Amino acid sequence: MFDRLEALPPDAIIALMQQCQADDRPDKIDLGVGVYKDSAGNIPIMQAVKMAETQIVADEKTKTYVGTTGRVTYREYMLSLVLGAEHPALQAGRIASTQAAGGSGALRIGAQLAFTAAPDASVWVSTPTWANHIPLIGSAGFAMKSYPYYNRDTLGVDFEDMLTHLEDHAKAGDIIVLHGCCHNPTGADLTPAQWDRLIPFLNKRGLLPFIDLAYLGLGHGLEKDAYGVRLAMRDCPEALIAVSCSKNFGLYKERVGLLAVLCETPDQTQIAQSQLGMIQRTLISMPPDHGAKIVERILGDPELRRIWSEELTVMRERMRGLRHQLSDALDVQGGEHIARAVIDQNGMFSTLPVTQDQAITLREDHAIYMTNSGRINIAGANGDNIPTLATALLDVLS
Ligand code: PMP
Repeated sequence: MFDRLEALPPDAIIALMQQCQADDRPDKIDLGVGVYKDSAGNIPIMQAVKMAETQIVADEKTKTYVGTTGRVTYREYMLSLVLGAEHPALQAGRIASTQAAGGSGALRIGAQLAFTAAPDASVWVSTPTWANHIPLIGSAGFAMKSYPYYNRDTLGVDFEDMLTHLEDHAKAGDIIVLHGCCHNPTGADLTPAQWDRLIPFLNKRGLLPFIDLAYLGLGHGLEKDAYGVRLAMRDCPEALIAVSCSKNFGLYKERVGLLAVLCETPDQTQIAQSQLGMIQRTLISMPPDHGAKIVERILGDPELRRIWSEELTVMRERMRGLRHQLSDALDVQGGEHIARAVIDQNGMFSTLPVTQDQAITLREDHAIYMTNSGRINIAGANGDNIPTLATALLDVLS
């Protein structure tokens, strides 16, 4: 039967990564894949993670199954990290949750839950969005649609266009995918004032937010980055939040995530909770445990938590510093608007106004690797190669 299958092209970002690895130019700059790198170009294990892991390995007595929705304590700690311990939705018992295999697992379970409840809804994603949103959420069965978001001329968010488009085209009950912070691939986030307008808009139109929070703490800090999520969970009747611990704990391959579901009443929350267990069971049976245990240990131990939070601050500030350096280097005639945008944008990514041909020229002539859409991972740069990067960018853009 497998002779009926068609070969698929390699994943674009993996292909880019491999092309970069095969490039033997010593001064190559890899701005491709979305992982945090330190100034030496390593993808480090955080010290707090190593410490927690050592304790866990010493203490662990069994490898038995964890249950379909994962560790209760992990979920509690994660919810209070994301929402704050005193959040009204937590206190009202309105949040169902499950441990998930990364943010991706959380998105997939969330999509399945929503599809079970509302198969006729459409799901709206920003233009552009993280490429995997469409297959991950779409594979639950949803019709996927898109709303305007990033303006490649101003390099900012077209907020009015976004609202107008949703006002005109989305129907009550539709689901709107939003990036909690550090929008991937653009780095262009909604401001608190825009969240303040968006949430009542969604409520008035009967639209349900599905917020993807994959970079908490990597934009402006743990509290500020959670602004939109906390607001939605306070003011919306229903919402979905998919959280990833891949980037902010550096736990990529351990597959750690959380799905939180805001329901209207505690009774509905109980029902949603039972559905989450069944959905996970149907998809992968049980979530992986090791990474969630690490996160649980870090969040539950004041000393480990302090160390983790300091390490997270170092990561965030390194990326902020690189943004400033790149901005300064681009702040010459013709580069001013990019210089401004690079500072205004948050987290790992920016989408630069380069065409596909220009991205290829950067690769071939300058050994600078970014996606063909112009997305850069700023953590792939360092203080030494920023001047080369800026000169090459200005060269291809002129
Ligand atoms: N959402 C966004 C926007 C992402 O960028 C990523 C990771 N690239 C994820 C979700 C999922 O990450 P993971 O499944 O590795 O936790």
